[in-house]
Amino acid sequence: MAAAPAVKHWRTTLERVEKFVSPVYFTDCNLRGRLFGDSCPVAELSSFSTPERLPYQEAVQQDFRPAQVGDSFGPTWWTCWFRVELTIPEEWVGQEVHLRWESDGEGLVWRDGEPVQGLTKEGEKTSYVLTDRLGEEDPRSLTLYVEVACNGLLGAGKGSMIASPDPEKMFRVSRAELAVFHQDVHKLLVDLELLLGIAKGLGEDNQRSFQALYTANQMVNVCDPAQPETFSVAQALASKFFGQRGGESQHTIHAMGHCHIDTAWLWPFKETVRKCARSWVTVVQLMERNPEFIFACSQAQQLQWVKSHYPGLHARLQEFACRGQFVPVGGTWVEMDGNLPSGEAMVRQFLQGQNFFLQEFGKMCSEFWLPDTFGYSAQLPQIMRSCGIRRFLTQKLSWNLVNSFPHHTFFWEGLDGSRVLAHFPPGDSYGMQGSVEEVLKTVTKNRDKGRTNHSAFLFGFGDGGGGPTQTMVDRLKRLRDTDGLPRVQFSSPERLFSALETHSGQLCTWVGELFLELHNGTYTTHAQIKKGNRECERILHDVELLSSLALARSAQFLYPAAQLQDLWRLLLLNQFHDVVTGSCIQLVAEEAMCHYEDIRSHGNTLLSAAAAALCAGEPGPEGLLIVNTLPWKRTEVLALPRPGGAHSLGLIPSPGDSTQHGLCSCSHPNLIAAPAAPAACVCNARAPSDLASRPPLIKTDGSVTLDNGIIRVRLDPIGRLTSLVLVASGREAIAEGTVGNQFVLFDDVPLYWDAWDVMDYHLETRKPVLGQAGTLAVGTEGGVQGSAWFLLQISPSSRLSQEVVLDVGCPYVRFHTEVHWHEAHKFLKVEFPARVRSPQATYEVQFGHLQRPTHYNTSWDWARFEVWAHRWIDLSEHGFGLALLNDCKYGASVRGNVLSLSLLRAPKSPDATADMGRHEFTYALMPHKGSFQDAGVIPAAYSLNFPLLALPAPGPAPAAAWSAFSLSSPAVVLETVKQAEASPQGRTLVLRLYEAHGSHVDCWLHTSLPVQEAVLCDLLERRDPAGPLPLRDARLKLTFSPFQVQSLLLVLQPPPN
Ligand SMILES: [Zn+2]
Repeated sequence: MAAAPAVKHWRTTLERVEKFVSPVYFTDCNLRGRLFGDSCPVAELSSFSTPERLPYQEAVQQDFRPAQVGDSFGPTWWTCWFRVELTIPEEWVGQEVHLRWESDGEGLVWRDGEPVQGLTKEGEKTSYVLTDRLGEEDPRSLTLYVEVACNGLLGAGKGSMIASPDPEKMFRVSRAELAVFHQDVHKLLVDLELLLGIAKGLGEDNQRSFQALYTANQMVNVCDPAQPETFSVAQALASKFFGQRGGESQHTIHAMGHCHIDTAWLWPFKETVRKCARSWVTVVQLMERNPEFIFACSQAQQLQWVKSHYPGLHARLQEFACRGQFVPVGGTWVEMDGNLPSGEAMVRQFLQGQNFFLQEFGKMCSEFWLPDTFGYSAQLPQIMRSCGIRRFLTQKLSWNLVNSFPHHTFFWEGLDGSRVLAHFPPGDSYGMQGSVEEVLKTVTKNRDKGRTNHSAFLFGFGDGGGGPTQTMVDRLKRLRDTDGLPRVQFSSPERLFSALETHSGQLCTWVGELFLELHNGTYTTHAQIKKGNRECERILHDVELLSSLALARSAQFLYPAAQLQDLWRLLLLNQFHDVVTGSCIQLVAEEAMCHYEDIRSHGNTLLSAAAAALCAGEPGPEGLLIVNTLPWKRTEVLALPRPGGAHSLGLIPSPGDSTQHGLCSCSHPNLIAAPAAPAACVCNARAPSDLASRPPLIKTDGSVTLDNGIIRVRLDPIGRLTSLVLVASGREAIAEGTVGNQFVLFDDVPLYWDAWDVMDYHLETRKPVLGQAGTLAVGTEGGVQGSAWFLLQISPSSRLSQEVVLDVGCPYVRFHTEVHWHEAHKFLKVEFPARVRSPQATYEVQFGHLQRPTHYNTSWDWARFEVWAHRWIDLSEHGFGLALLNDCKYGASVRGNVLSLSLLRAPKSPDATADMGRHEFTYALMPHKGSFQDAGVIPAAYSLNFPLLALPAPGPAPAAAWSAFSLSSPAVVLETVKQAEASPQGRTLVLRLYEAHGSHVDCWLHTSLPVQEAVLCDLLERRDPAGPLPLRDARLKLTFSPFQVQSLLLVLQPPPN
């Protein structure tokens, strides 16, 4: 036991030790001031600046000009390369020598043409170890390059972190020198800081706390910073303290190095490539020096970038992966948003990710890893399980603003009943520093004490990269097993979860979504990104389907597997949790829009190629190929191209007869607008007589009524919906005394996270937007479509125009909307008060739907004042309901009887231009009798999002209608048809189906394709060991449980010739 201070004064003793290690006070005489010894300037410094991010080989050939410490360079996003010539003084032989480098930009040291270490002041990496011990014979002169990016770890926000980047910002190198490093001083500093942490963390009621404080005090007494020979006595005191072990019952902390790198956020994608190199090359160095240190690394895309740009580093990572020190985790392409991506897109995150990890690191990941994502879909457990993953880690729910999540280790049960083991590091962070405070917090905050005795502890600078430091590793090594503290071991996700699994019998279960009670604005911010996402999900769906059909029908057709992989990876990249969410800077939003444009243009080329293959060799008239990419029969009004760029409307029944509905591909001579006689198409449309006979439009006294015999819509003179009647029953859907299609504006000023958050109090600022009477005009009148349109001035600077459209035969009314939006911190929504009463509303999610309350009974209810949905939401009571569909929106709410769709926001950080300008979107309203399942709300929402395709047929189009697949149950949706990733001779297809009604159901799948073998597979397309399914008369029987997703491999017969 170290000697106690003479006077019992806690504070002076504590602060005395603090001053002894302070980097600010008394550095002339304290221990910290001795960390570095002699120093000397670098022999020569020269530099050159470029707006490009050049490869090393190119950069070092540029014209370097003399430079000095203190020079400024920039501006933001430029790169300054420094050539650093060094000569180590001879008298430093036997010493540890560092290059000390301090800059406000992010640096990367290159030595002999390879990156060797990141240098980032904010990431506490300001020195590069030139040698642990300079030998007599060692070369003392060398040349290094330091590549300094003109941005900080967290970008270049002007004034605050999340402000827009300052384009004029200049950067400086404030230190570039050689110095002797005193390892013994470093060790004492680590010990003293830990002892201080223990004293403070355990507090004045605790015996061990005083032991720590007195040990530290005595160390100060015996240690003379100017006399290194006194250090060993101090060191011995510390070792004695830390060598006193804890009891067997101590909690075990699994410390894993980590480095959360946002794939794009406050910096562009291309900077992330370099962030990965800077962070991971530093990790390689730490793994070399500390064989027990383990680093968990997620996001295949980032590893792919490193593989292409830094092959040497990639090879080292593979080496350390073999040793078990570098552990790929997550299994996904990027750490995607957990709410907005479609079910299929989520599957592809794993498919692309797991295959990459398998190929590059020899095995797939066993943990799903989304520490920083803004909420987690209730379908994720099922998707994870079917992708070979049963474990999940995040910490983001600790950000909940209202309710504290009740578990840290628990089973998470998804929509279909699938369960995974979930763990939230109880320290509520993925960027720990290895301090005692964090270690203690991990134990005390753990909400599963007594149920499990293991926790994760992720340490290393994150978000902008950076990762762990040697000091963090040293701290955690010291805390291995010390009385009064939990045990700390360097560990892997595998070891942590295995330990948790041994106690899993005592764990609680959370059912349904993991909703983040924060960042609810991310469902709406950057509407164009959201629209691009939805549209590109559709395009890739259609391309895969058509290409699969072309493959089945044409021996010559080559499935564009490589192109589709590239396009999918672009889409998946944009689903990163700061891109599709809209919480990124302008530069990233612009890049994302370019990615979508690439997917659109290449996707359309691929669609045309598939259409051409489907037409080839078939007799029939030239014209259009009408394709229904959905698995049910459809009759819809379609705009058909006419010569000269005009369009005509045609009523297009889905091809195929009544027994064979499904994915259809045909050109029907009676219905196609042949270039010579386009009008014939419309006039001869085979509209059922009861629909065709009704005049679709009536106009009276400034209001307009649209009626297609299914629904009757009445708009008042300013475009609001005063009535919506289901004609057959006469049932009114709009609440008495209210109007629907009511635009409302809210003040939208969050507490801090501008692009992310819409706060509860915005609801108190609701202002209806009122138009001027007489603006409503009739658009299309009669024929197969009726419409009305109006203009609405939202504010002095923003306006809206809308066309309200009702088609013959269509069960919903569409609202095509164009907005010119120029606002600051306003939120635009549209509301529909329904004549429906229900305590809960239904929202579409990935491969299914779920209910959320329409009331604010408890804090858990009201915290969901703004929620996310995919293509539809529905409010139903027994026998009747109202559904609100959309083609590119995600934010919604239903409070009481009011369905509300969130349209546009206007945050200013981190992108001051977010959402400014022109927008186009469509929503639709569908009243229905019975349940939304029986009434067909789900297919209606699909139809709105997947219009019939009218593709120009370059050759003769097939004369006869043709359907590839049909299903016997409306509860089952055939979501995806694609070529299998591993497809011998390219002739294996994958079909993905899911149960959409929430029911147990048997279903027959019928196909007209030449199928040789059918076998179930998982989402990674691995065959079910149970073997092939019986295939009789081109039919397969499938059995589904509620919201179950099933995949099938269909092996096609060899091509005809
Ligand atoms: Zn993040």
